[in-house]
Amino acid sequence: MSLLTVTRVEPLTPRMVRMTFTGEGLADLGTWPDQQLKLLFPKPGGSAFVSDSRDVSAWYQDYLAIPEPSRPWMRSFTVRSLVDGVLTVDFVLHGDDGPASRWAATAQVGDVIGRFGPSPEYARPLGTGDLLVFAGDETALPAIASLLELLPASQRFRAFVEVEDPAEEQDVPGVRWVHRSAGEDLVSVVTALDVPPSAWVWLGGEASAVRALRRHFAGLGVSKKDIEFSGYWRRSLTQDDAPTAEDLAEAQERIASLTE
Ligand SMILES: Cc1cc2nc3c(=O)[nH]c(=O)nc-3n(C[C@H](O)[C@H](O)[C@H](O)COP(=O)(O)OP(=O)(O)OC[C@H]3O[C@@H](n4cnc5c(N)ncnc54)[C@H](O)[C@@H]3O)c2cc1C
Repeated sequence: MSLLTVTRVEPLTPRMVRMTFTGEGLADLGTWPDQQLKLLFPKPGGSAFVSDSRDVSAWYQDYLAIPEPSRPWMRSFTVRSLVDGVLTVDFVLHGDDGPASRWAATAQVGDVIGRFGPSPEYARPLGTGDLLVFAGDETALPAIASLLELLPASQRFRAFVEVEDPAEEQDVPGVRWVHRSAGEDLVSVVTALDVPPSAWVWLGGEASAVRALRRHFAGLGVSKKDIEFSGYWRRSLTQDDAPTAEDLAEAQERIASLTE
């Protein structure tokens, strides 16, 4: 059963909480860069369990077969670490308007949620090249921090993370913190950077910022296949809301860039 039990809750900053989980099957999972998984949050009176299937299509059919009022909310998250069957996930507390954030704000040891993944089918290699550039907001910090930990000491990189204010900074060496409270924003700071076309770029975070940065780097001549990008959340839209025309166009471009 792909259920996860909370074993530790550790506030990291005012707006970020780290949780560790144990669960069946975790010890058998491999590890690779930027592991993403789906977490399932139970609705009141409902269960977080969906299916034992490991096949994504079959699992999703089982998910859709659950009547909507009791179908758990499904949200995307990043494996901060997975060691000896213990999974660590860092949750942004952005308010009570999302079920994942709401759950994370009050979660306690012993609480149970569901998971699907991480699946090696979605593994993407870490880029190589003279310069690697990482940029994202706090939702991408778990991914950026875990990716930076994998870099050889000789690798040149620049990393930018937009957070609310200095209280949100974590001990991640090499990060240039971008503070919204000081009037800064990720796009302005990152687009001021001098980047050669040979760079490899990783982008994650609020969708319109990711989109603007992707266009910027493509405009500088960075090959689209060397720009890993993902809109992690959309302003005023939940992860259940249908994709916008821009989301769909981006998905098409992503597929096209994989075959470039
Ligand atoms: C591949 C991937 C990996 C991710 N990894 C992580 C991770 O490790 N940790 C993490 O915390 N998040 C991560 N995210 C982002 C997370 O999935 C979204 O923030 C998600 O919307 C949270 O769900 P929710 O139920 O709290 O809010 P939803 O129900 O999806 O949204 C409710 C409202 O909250 C707003 N909202 C959502 N997220 C934010 C935010 N960060 N700041 C301000 N407003 C917001 C929406 O615009 C909407 O109005 C990841 C996303 C992806 C696609």
